[in-house]
Amino acid sequence: MTPEGKGRSSAPALPDRMWRPRPGLDRAQRSREQDRTAGGADCRLVDVGEGRLRPASVVLKGSIRTGLITAVLRWSVDGRSTTVPLGKLDRPTRVENLREGWRLAREAGMLSKPSAPEDSWASSPATRKSMVGNKGRDTKPELRLRSLLHRAGLRYRVSARPIPSLRRTADVVFPKAKVAVFVDGCYWHGCPEHRSVPATNRDFWVEKIKDTKARDAETVRLLENSGWKVLRFWEHTPPGEAAQLVIDEVAAARKRINTVGPALPE
Ligand SMILES: [Zn+2]
Repeated sequence: MTPEGKGRSSAPALPDRMWRPRPGLDRAQRSREQDRTAGGADCRLVDVGEGRLRPASVVLKGSIRTGLITAVLRWSVDGRSTTVPLGKLDRPTRVENLREGWRLAREAGMLSKPSAPEDSWASSPATRKSMVGNKGRDTKPELRLRSLLHRAGLRYRVSARPIPSLRRTADVVFPKAKVAVFVDGCYWHGCPEHRSVPATNRDFWVEKIKDTKARDAETVRLLENSGWKVLRFWEHTPPGEAAQLVIDEVAAARKRINTVGPALPE
């Protein structure tokens, strides 16, 4: 907040049309308003990790005291909602403020699809490339790894929960051998070699990457406690190298199963 804003004695008018939704809009109509102002339904998606995308909304709040509108981006995962501040807005209509909110979210790199190609939404080509190349399921390094595993004769599940009751999705899962493979995007998972946090909304990113790392560690712990072998690779790991480690691990697991338990059918 600016010092001037704090000490202002008479607040400027804050007309409803700047931020309040038209009365009587139902859920679907509100959703369409979000779609339109974002530039399409697919432009509202936030990557929440593990290949999951969730639609976000720009929420506007007017403050009579400051005469400004605060925009936040909100989305929810498994019933828990996350709100990230976008900034203060002062456009004359709600629609313009929503558009502006979406623009800020895009610029900050919060949305999975960099819509509006004229916008430079990531601070550098490298950051942009890393963010674009990191959409969860079917990212390139993961596809390469899978094709190498397939070629080696391995069969597996893709983007599956190793433990159905546990909300954690691994990229490649070998249910019988109990081996779970994760290919972590360098950006979201905070790879020490390729992390470059955008200057805009830096705190948000630092916090988000920290959360992702904590969740990653927890996933490993939960799976290992249930007898799973967990392999995590950075997306920058050469796929051939990763594939060999997976092949070895699955072979070792099969050997273990075959010596202690009933033989697996080939
Ligand atoms: Zn990396």
